[in-house]
Amino acid sequence: MRYVSTRGQSAPVSGAEAIIQGLCPDGGLYIPEEMPRLPKDFVRTLAPLDYPDRAAAVLRLFLPEFRDLESLCREAYSRFHGQYAPLCQYESSLVLELWHGPTCAFKDMALQMLPVLMTAACELTGETREICILTATSGDTGKAALEGFRDRPGTRVIVFYPQEGVSDIQKLQMTTQEGDNTAVCGVVGNFDDAQSGVKQVFSHPENAGLPDGMILSSANSINLGRLLPQVAYYVSAYVDFAALPEHKDGQPLNICVPTGNFGNILAALYAREMGVPIGRLLCASNRNHVLTDLIQTGVYDRNRALYPTDSPSMDILISSNWERALYLFSGGDASYVRSCMEHLSREGRYTLRDDCEKAMQSVLDGYWCDDDRTKRAIGEIYERTGQVIDPHTAVGMAALLDREGFDQAQTPYMTVATAHPGKFPEAVLAGLVAALSNGEPKDLVSALDKYIKVPAQLKSLFEKPVRFTEIIEKEDISGAVARFVNPSRM
Ligand SMILES: *Cc1c(COP(=O)(O)O)cnc(C)c1O
Repeated sequence: MRYVSTRGQSAPVSGAEAIIQGLCPDGGLYIPEEMPRLPKDFVRTLAPLDYPDRAAAVLRLFLPEFRDLESLCREAYSRFHGQYAPLCQYESSLVLELWHGPTCAFKDMALQMLPVLMTAACELTGETREICILTATSGDTGKAALEGFRDRPGTRVIVFYPQEGVSDIQKLQMTTQEGDNTAVCGVVGNFDDAQSGVKQVFSHPENAGLPDGMILSSANSINLGRLLPQVAYYVSAYVDFAALPEHKDGQPLNICVPTGNFGNILAALYAREMGVPIGRLLCASNRNHVLTDLIQTGVYDRNRALYPTDSPSMDILISSNWERALYLFSGGDASYVRSCMEHLSREGRYTLRDDCEKAMQSVLDGYWCDDDRTKRAIGEIYERTGQVIDPHTAVGMAALLDREGFDQAQTPYMTVATAHPGKFPEAVLAGLVAALSNGEPKDLVSALDKYIKVPAQLKSLFEKPVRFTEIIEKEDISGAVARFVNPSRM
């Protein structure tokens, strides 16, 4: 199995090389040269397996040269305490809970796996240099990457988060991070500022003073090693769906995904391409609804303000992984993808070709809502089901409520729950108790603890020492990397 660039101007590489590199040399993203197909009887063969073995079976189709994927998956998911990606029923509504990992966000599903895959990839390719993971985060990626790579031999991890636009709990999760190979730094500005600063380091690594024997890589969701573990949970979810008593053989499942960088929903699209009977995909956004507009009008337009919202992990104007979907919808036309991306970087917008727009609309629906609707959805779901959901999941649930109605009988939708509500106490409590809208984060977590059991790793944040307090301008990101990788010069 070989991986090629969405922009068509990089040499094909193995899966192991794609995982180590992150981004293609031509600026594109790695995609399988040919999409693997699941065997026809995958539901029957995967049903008896537990989650790590199911994940290994899916990963094997993409990474056939990796040895013993079962034990790699077992190692990666050892911090999940036996609950991995359960398909739940909140009354009549299907919900895929993806927040059972160590940082309470769906990012753990991939970021506990990526370091394991990266070590295995280094062994396969004979790479012996130290890998320095650089990541810009809109909130949850940073913490999940830090936990995934913490104290992992042969790696370091540096996370840059935007000063404006991560929740208090997300910030505290990062600034109290343990581990000898970790560093965290705030950046003045929003996520796009942090991300563009980190991209600068990748295009001019000479400014970051990397010592010999160290290479840069990324844990952002463009890395193939993050995408593939996400495909696995959609395959597993369908297997669980097929085991429900009301399931009819081959019945399609529609999926609703709260979306930011288009990574999670792209994995659902890949599962569909591989032969999982998935019907339509509902892409749910917050007030930063570039993708809703794209799906409805065929125009990608990032020329607009970025608003901070109650679902900060979706506050994004450039959804990097959309490029992989564009490649699929254009029938694999790399030169077309390249021209769209050139338009995007020059003018901030592009208009889809007719055939691409049709292909996109044959699969995707778009929806967006504001913070007010998000909070009302939290209250509404609690009233209907007794379940407390986080604001990202609530955007997805609002899409379902407003578009399909809660009790959709014919075409079941599965909504993806992307974070534990304990990470966003303010919005969750405001939704639950409309009157309660401000207060100290610590008090709000205690208040929330009366409704749900807040995981110990979130409650203990208030007792942990803060280790990282540095805030820098985005132009200084190279310098910050240099200080971290050369501690003797500090
Ligand atoms: C990252 C994140 C999202 C958005 O996922 P994408 O893959 O970027 O589309 C949604 N919800 C939560 C809680 C997240 O952490």
